[in-house]
Amino acid sequence: MYRNYISEYNLCPDDVLVYLRKSRADDPLLTVEEVLSRHESILDEWAEKNLGARVPEDNKFREVVSGETIADRPEVQKLLRLIESPRFKAVLVVEVPRLSRGDLEDAGRLMKLFRYTNTLVITPQWIFDLQEEHNRDGFERELKRGNEYLEYTKHIMNRGTLRSVSEGNYLGSIAPYGYDRVWITEGKRKCPTLAINEEQANVVRMIFDLHTNQNMGAINIGHRLDELGIKAPKGDHWSSYAIRNMLSNIHYIGKIKWNCRKTATVVEDGEIRKTRPTSKMGDYLVFEGKHEAIITEELFYATQEKLNKHPKLRKNMGVRNPLAGLLYCQCGRAMSLRIYKDKNGGERNAPRLLCDGQEHCHVSSCLYSEMIDIVKKVLSDSISDFERRIDSTTDDAIKYHEKLLKSLEKKLQDIEAREISQWEAQSHPDESQRMPPHIFKMLNEKLLKEKDEVKEAIKNARNTMPTVEDFGEKKVRFQKALDALNDPELDAGIKNKLLKDCIARIDYSREKATRSRRAPGEAPGTTIKTAGGHWDVKPINIDIKLKV
Ligand SMILES: [Zn+2]
Repeated sequence: MYRNYISEYNLCPDDVLVYLRKSRADDPLLTVEEVLSRHESILDEWAEKNLGARVPEDNKFREVVSGETIADRPEVQKLLRLIESPRFKAVLVVEVPRLSRGDLEDAGRLMKLFRYTNTLVITPQWIFDLQEEHNRDGFERELKRGNEYLEYTKHIMNRGTLRSVSEGNYLGSIAPYGYDRVWITEGKRKCPTLAINEEQANVVRMIFDLHTNQNMGAINIGHRLDELGIKAPKGDHWSSYAIRNMLSNIHYIGKIKWNCRKTATVVEDGEIRKTRPTSKMGDYLVFEGKHEAIITEELFYATQEKLNKHPKLRKNMGVRNPLAGLLYCQCGRAMSLRIYKDKNGGERNAPRLLCDGQEHCHVSSCLYSEMIDIVKKVLSDSISDFERRIDSTTDDAIKYHEKLLKSLEKKLQDIEAREISQWEAQSHPDESQRMPPHIFKMLNEKLLKEKDEVKEAIKNARNTMPTVEDFGEKKVRFQKALDALNDPELDAGIKNKLLKDCIARIDYSREKATRSRRAPGEAPGTTIKTAGGHWDVKPINIDIKLKV
């Protein structure tokens, strides 16, 4: 295809520069040095065969740092400066993508540079002369192979599903709210697509309008829809989460989105779960759909701009709540940490734990510090309990079993000793001292039988040895979690992980605070005073399932 004959170019080894770089395509178990030396020997061999000798050491560039772009790779920069000199006529690499990570800016720059300096790019397979148009196309394609994303796209493009999506079909099993899933016939083929559901589509239009034209937040939009008696797509109420998802759903402008995210198997709390990690921006492909738009592109993109200006607080942040994934409200929903900041970023109120559906279940929240104190108490009580049990592990059953095993082992040694002495007696030089053969045979068989029985008993005794519960391990595990909670500097994600080693789940309930009915002059106790009067705060009830 692009193969030219090296003899046409009349090159000598001094005219050639060699560039070596490890990429993600290489065996990750090899070091940079190992990869580069492998590649170097391939290129040396090529040069010996085609140029008559290896390229001189001064002309070789080895990239040991792994930068994303040309600007981050010092060796390629040196090489690119050199090719501006007419002295050098070619660059030799194992494959074209080694020159670039394949982003368009890098690729364009390289193309221009090689073309206008009249420098050949040589790989052991091909010679690219960028003066020639068809060589340029091939080179460009090869360069872009370095881009893993494009590579992945190309790979899945060959698969039926993606082809179907790229033709604009809707392959999801559930239609986005506002549409119904329908089949249309095109030629001989039946294609799945979406048809507008007018009643729902009006709700979609209303949501976009309230959000973007009337500046209403997702939570308030949810309340508005509930008040209007509009049935939520899922559950009894419109959640702000569902509304935010709708506001960024590109299907509403007649496009098809294809997620490249895969299902991942995650083992959590000893259970295997399938999850579809939420895709980051750019992890999906967008195609023109066959279905009609509900929202104009203008409104949709204005909405995206607005959504991006108010990114969700938790976006791009790690775990900030040590109790994430552990704490559940009595209504079944998870509870989240709320941090209250003032205008200057300082703490306005102490952080609280609040049910994610508090507006529906009305379960009272609690102070984060109250909850952490309870968890700490549970952990330290457990540690004391483990300590008590470690001390009292003088288990009789184990002692008895060990004695039994010892006596069986002794018995086996005795049998083996008898066996040896029997054989010794039977090989006595004086034949008259030996037993008659049939007697020896009988005794020997009896001994072997006895030996087998004892061996079997030892095996059984070992298998049925009572196990000591490892309270030492438990103590260490719980102590780590407790120490973590006591360390204010420690990252919440680490605290969360250590807590999950000890706690399976925390269920929370709390009665609503009531107006205080205490007599005048009585000590306030758990009463708090607010602008609305005195309130009796009810205690927190929690049920902690430990991993012991
Ligand atoms: Zn709740």
